[in-house]
Order: sequence, then C-alpha cells, then structure tokens
Amino acid sequence: MANKIPRVPVREQDPKVRATNFEEVCYGYNTEEATLEASRCLHCKNPRCVAACPVGIRIPDFIGALHAGEFRQAADIIAEDSSLPSICGRVCPQESQCEGSCILGIKGDPVAIGKLERFVGDWKLEHGASAAPQTAPRNGHKVAVIGSGPAGLACASDLAKMGYQVKIFEALHKVGGVLVYGIPEFRLPKERIVAREIAEVEKLGVEIETDVIVGRTVTIDSLLDEEGYAAVFIGSGAGLPRFMGIPGENLNGVVSANEFLTRANLMHAYDEQYDTPIYVGKRVVVVGGGNVAMDAVRTARRLGAEATIVYRRSEKELPARAEEVHHAKEEGICFRMLTNPTEVLGDERGWVRGMRCVEMELGEPDESGRRSPVVKAGSEFDIACDVAIMALGTSPNPLLAATTAGLETNRRGCITADERGATSREGVFAGGDAVTGAATVILAMGAGRTAARAIDEYIKKH
Ligand code: FAD
Ligand code: SF4
Repeated sequence: MANKIPRVPVREQDPKVRATNFEEVCYGYNTEEATLEASRCLHCKNPRCVAACPVGIRIPDFIGALHAGEFRQAADIIAEDSSLPSICGRVCPQESQCEGSCILGIKGDPVAIGKLERFVGDWKLEHGASAAPQTAPRNGHKVAVIGSGPAGLACASDLAKMGYQVKIFEALHKVGGVLVYGIPEFRLPKERIVAREIAEVEKLGVEIETDVIVGRTVTIDSLLDEEGYAAVFIGSGAGLPRFMGIPGENLNGVVSANEFLTRANLMHAYDEQYDTPIYVGKRVVVVGGGNVAMDAVRTARRLGAEATIVYRRSEKELPARAEEVHHAKEEGICFRMLTNPTEVLGDERGWVRGMRCVEMELGEPDESGRRSPVVKAGSEFDIACDVAIMALGTSPNPLLAATTAGLETNRRGCITADERGATSREGVFAGGDAVTGAATVILAMGAGRTAARAIDEYIKKH
C-alpha cells in the first residue's frame, strides 16, 4: 500500500540552539500541516493501528474528523479512550504501537498518528473541552487512588465518569508522577501541557491531595476500614532505582537517573531562579539505553556537560523511543554501544574520575528474545568522566506491600494483580508500573482503565 502524499515533516527547534535550553524540542503541526497529514489515512476497514493501540483509540475516526476540520469531534473521539492525548501524542512509543502497525508503513512512512493526536489534544487545551464532561450522577461510593501518575489519573477519570467519588492521594507536592518528576520539560512541557491536562481530570470531580504518603500518613487498611472507601486502586509506579553493584558506585558523583532528573525537573535545578543543587562537571557518562537514559543524557548536555551514553547492546536493541535517540544524536550526544562498565574510578578525594568498561559482542538471544551481550576478552578500557548517571531500570517501592495486610508481591517486588487489576487483598486493585515494573505511559493508562471497570463491578457486587 503506498500513498502519493509524503509524510508531513514536523518543525523542531534547531539542534544547536535547543542543546542549550529546556524549551520544547518539537513544535508540532499547525492546522494546515495536520490537515494534510490527516489526508494520508486510508481509513482501513480493519485498522491495524487501532488493534496496536493499548487503549484502542478509534484512530481513523479521529483522523477523519480532524481532516474534515471537526477538531472538537476529533477530541471527543479520543476522549472516549484517553484522557491524556497531548501527553500521549508526545511520549508514546508510536513506532512500536499504532504507527508501527499502520498499513502505510509497509511500503513507506506510516501516518504520523502521534503528531495528529498531539495536535488534537493541544487544540482541546487551547479551546476548552466540550461544554461539560459527561459524568453519571454520584452513586454514593468512595474510591481511593494511590498515586497521580498516568495509571492513577486514568483510573480516577473513568471512575468519576461512572459516578464514584474519587480521591487521589499523592506522595509528592506535585501531581503527575513521572510526567512531572521524570520526563523533562523539553519533551513534555509541565505548565502548558501536563498541568492543563490534569486540570481536565479534576473537572470530572476527582479530588487530589498531595503530600500524602500512603503507608505513612495513612494506610490502605485505614482507608478501607475507617475512612469509608469501598475500594482502593494502587498506581504508585516504580520509583526505586537500580544500581549495577560494581566497585566505585558509592563515590561522589555517581547518581541514579531518577534523582538526577527529579532535581532537574521537579525541583527546577536547571532554572537559575531555584537553588536546587545539581552537579554535572565537564563530562557525564549515562549508563543505559532506555527513555530514562536519553532524558538524563540530554539534560546533562543542556546543563553544559559533554555527555555520553554507554549501552551494553547495539543500537538496534536500544529500548528508547526512536525519536529520542534521533534527537539525542542531533544534539551531539556521544553513543558508545556494546560497552559495559565494570568499575567506577575515583580520585584521592573520593570523587568520580572515570569509568572502567569492557567491550561486548552479541551472543544468543535471551528469554526476552534480544541477543545477550557477552564480554570481549581483553577489551578493558577507561572513559574519563566527572559524573556517572545510572539509568538501569527501577522497581516499585516496597512501602505499600510492607504496610498492607495480605498484599502480595512477586520476586521483582511488583504488586501481584490479575489481568483486571485485582490484587491478593480484597477491595484492593493495582495497575501501571507498580504491577509491571517500569513500562510506558499508555500501558499504565490502559491498566488504570481496566481496573476502573473491575472496581465498578466489585463495588456493585458488594
Ligand atoms: P508513575 O508515573 O510513577 O506515578 C506513580 C505516582 O505514585 C508518583 O507520583 C508517586 O509519587 C506516587 N506514589 C508512589 N508511592 C506512593 C505512596 N505510597 N503514596 C502516595 N503516592 C505514592 N513512557 C512512555 O510511554 N514514553 C516515554 O517517553 C517515557 N519516558 C520516560 C522517561 C523517564 C525519565 C521515566 C522515569 C519514565 C518514562 N516512561 C516513558 C515511563 C512512564 O513514565 C511510566 O511507565 C508511567 O509514568 C507509569 O505510570 P504509573 O502511573 O504507573 O506510575
Ligand atoms: Fe489510517 Fe494507517 Fe490506521 Fe489504516 S492503519 S486507518 S492508514 S492510520
């Protein structure tokens, strides 16, 4: 299947300029560009793009409405399945989901579904949602949601639409989970996009209380037994960083990507008006190849460091979104593929001075299907650096499991839940990174929505 109209390119900030600022990299489509791109969709009878979308957005229908200039209708179609289109349009790994399955991608470029979703989402933020959000009358039942990331927000939105009185408890002082503390401003603007999309959720009647650590300030048991909540949804994410366990990881200048990005994003360390300390030195090495690694390395670059990615597999296996890898390269990030650290080297004052690494080659596929890296004999070498950032993945914080009777976790510390989000504890449901370990925004949203339906059924039965 081919299309005579080539994919409409999207305007972006010049790489040399943006490598020195934190403003958004991608400008998105204007109306003319979005309309032209929308005209490329073939409106397939069995749209593969919809089947590949974890929340099943009616993609050809919203694209059709956009093409007809019916932007509000397009927004309403997306809203049936997603409450965060401006966010998902910016951060979803479209190349392995909707766009990866678009029929036009077989012989050419797929429809730019993500950029079209972003256009519609931003249009809605600009022009306001439909008159009043459709919510059922209040049914008198209260549901507590733990965590205000995509899983918690999606679950809360759906329950509020069904008529439940929903309250989100968030440990941090800001709402949004990774969307505010992890993903940087240059990829996902906080005030212009995240805060406004969250405001749409609040318009549904969802109450949000920040600075409440469930497991400390209150417990799941007290919410259920004393505070009258009929059910609880856990969307507490996976915020606990992993380290490699190699010598030198306790040196000054070794930091987890989570801490580095939280300082930069949530605590505004990049902004001179804030006095949050952040140290990058002259040379930064980031270990890892996912979105977190890309965000950390590009943040370090913007803070003035020479920044390098060290990843033990090859470029083909990089788990980060293709767009982020492309942008990182344009911004002058150095990529050292098939390289693995064995030791962080320190100076006499206990600060990082370098990283000892070995070269790797790819062997047989492991259980994930990816070829496992094996050390090349005699390949040891050193890279000079002042800071080492570890972006090796995260796991859920054990606090909730430790403070909730009967809540089981698996060997990776993730909360055990069935496919509908029901945990081992009656009335307690869970979804998102807290269940799967670090994954994606849209999967977390999908899990939140599935759990909302299961919670509704559970409460109706009891
Ligand atoms: P989170 O977003 O982690 O939210 C959990 C919330 O729960 C947090 O706000 C936390 O403070 C709160 N919480 C935790 N414990 C408690 C408690 N005891 N009491 C009260 N509140 C609590 N995904 C993509 O799809 N595309 C990307 O480009 C992408 N980039 C990423 C970049 C970074 C730097 C990171 C860290 C992740 C990225 N991800 C990306 C992954 C994605 O952000 C997560 O999969 C998603 O946010 C998970 O959503 P969640 O709601 O399960 O958890
Ligand atoms: Fe349109 Fe591609 Fe989806 Fe077909 S698969 S409906 S062309 S976006």
